[in-house]
Amino acid sequence: MQKGLLIVVSGASGTGKGTVCKKILSDLPEVAYSISATTRAPRPGEVDGKEYYFLSVEEFKSWIADGKFLEHAEVYGNFYGTPLNKIEERLNRGEDILLEIDVQGALNVKRKCSEGVYIFLLPPSLEELKRRIEGRGTETPESLSRRMKNALAEINVGLEYDYVVVNDSIENAAEKIKAILTAERLKVSRNEDKFNFDGGF
Ligand code: ADP
Ligand code: 5GP
Repeated sequence: MQKGLLIVVSGASGTGKGTVCKKILSDLPEVAYSISATTRAPRPGEVDGKEYYFLSVEEFKSWIADGKFLEHAEVYGNFYGTPLNKIEERLNRGEDILLEIDVQGALNVKRKCSEGVYIFLLPPSLEELKRRIEGRGTETPESLSRRMKNALAEINVGLEYDYVVVNDSIENAAEKIKAILTAERLKVSRNEDKFNFDGGF
């Protein structure tokens, strides 16, 4: 059986990672979403255990101490982490797992899991990135300017990924990511068992 794909989608805050990943998850029901833990407060409509596991700082620190994270990072003053949650076992069972995480977290995962598929999402322009963050309506003027200042540094990290996708439209970006996943599943290195014709005619 083919091992599942560890799919990591990352990019600067506001690029549209969450939106594009939602589309992929709805188009590809076989892909499981890795629910992160965070110390930030839930936004309206967010449900504990669905979008995130919402933890206090003390709880988050005890998860770190108990070795429950694959990676964790501080992002804009809050802690975020990917729970290990039997990821390796699930991949071995053939399950595809999607992580939507920030650039520091993605690089940390890449150091540990070289077999993962690392996809960097770019905004069409910095002006459009600013419009998207403003449009989301979740930032104060100070946090908007902090995110814009960080964006260029975050975008440079994209050079270390395997694939780059411009999020011009949600549809286009999702189609490109689906094409990447199709190609990844067809890699010889993931299909060596298919070459085994022992037994002959
Ligand atoms: P991220 O998860 O990268 O921080 P979000 O998914 O929250 O970003 O998207 C930021 C804002 O941009 C949201 O208001 C979302 O609706 C909007 N958005 C995302 N993708 C697109 C797109 N392709 N075109 C226009 N707006 C988009
Ligand atoms: P938000 O608070 O807008 O949901 O997310 C803020 C940032 O944290 C986004 O860039 C998001 O991708 C990132 N993030 C979400 N979950 C994780 C995680 O588990 N680990 C890391 N490193 N970043 C995460």
